[in-house]
Amino acid sequence: MLHPAPNAPSDDTVRLRAVWEVASDAMALSDPDGFVLDANPAYFRLYGYTPDEVLGRSFAVIFPEEMRSWAEEQYRATFARDEVAPAVQSTVRRNDGTERHVEVRYAFLTDAAGRRTALLSVIRDVTERTLAERQQAAFLAMVGHELKNPLTVIRGMAQLLQRGGDRRERAVASIVEQSKHLTRLVSDLLDLAQLEAGQLAVERTEVDLAALMARATEEVRLLAPAHPLLIELPDGPVAVRGDAGRLRQVLDNLLANATKYSPAGSAVRVRLERACGEARVAITDEGPGIPPEALPRLFERFYRAEAARHGGMPGLGLGLAICKGLVEAHDGRIGVESARGRGSTFWFALPCA
Ligand code: ADP
Repeated sequence: MLHPAPNAPSDDTVRLRAVWEVASDAMALSDPDGFVLDANPAYFRLYGYTPDEVLGRSFAVIFPEEMRSWAEEQYRATFARDEVAPAVQSTVRRNDGTERHVEVRYAFLTDAAGRRTALLSVIRDVTERTLAERQQAAFLAMVGHELKNPLTVIRGMAQLLQRGGDRRERAVASIVEQSKHLTRLVSDLLDLAQLEAGQLAVERTEVDLAALMARATEEVRLLAPAHPLLIELPDGPVAVRGDAGRLRQVLDNLLANATKYSPAGSAVRVRLERACGEARVAITDEGPGIPPEALPRLFERFYRAEAARHGGMPGLGLGLAICKGLVEAHDGRIGVESARGRGSTFWFALPCA
């Protein structure tokens, strides 16, 4: 059995005041007309207003201007209603103009005769949760869409074969190509899951980056014959310590993007050089380039620049995020230089062995 310490304050108001001061939820007390009688420190932190700007004024100051009269109306209706909703979701605006998503719970304070004298609002900032939920919904929609397209082709072609159509070779080639695409999408999702869980295994041995690049570019010649390849490799091997399979994956990804995001017939330049104890790979295309506002977000998972999203280019926006994770797992650096209309150079650098 717990006993209160001998000097613990027993007065309820003292305790309530302490809760009011330390609560991480914002709390405000307002009269039947919506004028704020009191607000706790979390309230001023959440909205960025000073007590002078809030106390004695309408609570609606925290709503975007176009919503203020609506908010005041809602408030009066809440006051008049017998029952109050357990929690209300809403969007409010901070003093600095940024918007926050909040969940508000209400409780009425009454006088001895049972008349409502004030409303206590307890306001929880749920912005991060709301954004995460939206992101997750958008992510599921995008994954569903990306997986469905190749499956539709595979099914169509399989049905064609089933009916014994005459273009069997084309149908089989299409099924193989779309299955490879699906495998890549699913592998990317699995890699991302491992990266995020910090479980992506990188087995290090001595790898000759020059030989690895020669093999990767050979494959590009076969897969994307419409792009002339200009390759600059130093004489002799360039040794790094790393996972050959994973480094090849980075190269394949950057090379695939260079051909995917540049017009047929335009050249792709691939360069490997040694500088300051680093092996530096640069892949330059003659595509439309990347707008400056997209550059800082390019290596984020699921991020796709406007042109890719609306240009009908398939993809989940995972390739570069995975490349970044893999390069950093090798103690390396990765980056991009690009200007609109002047192509892009994606590069990465690894410590030499
Ligand atoms: P995905 O290609 O699936 O969209 P990535 O992570 O590989 O995913 O690339 C993210 C985004 O970066 C692409 O959607 C595209 O907008 C942009 N991007 C990548 N490589 C290039 C490139 N070589 N030229 C122009 N934009 C590129």
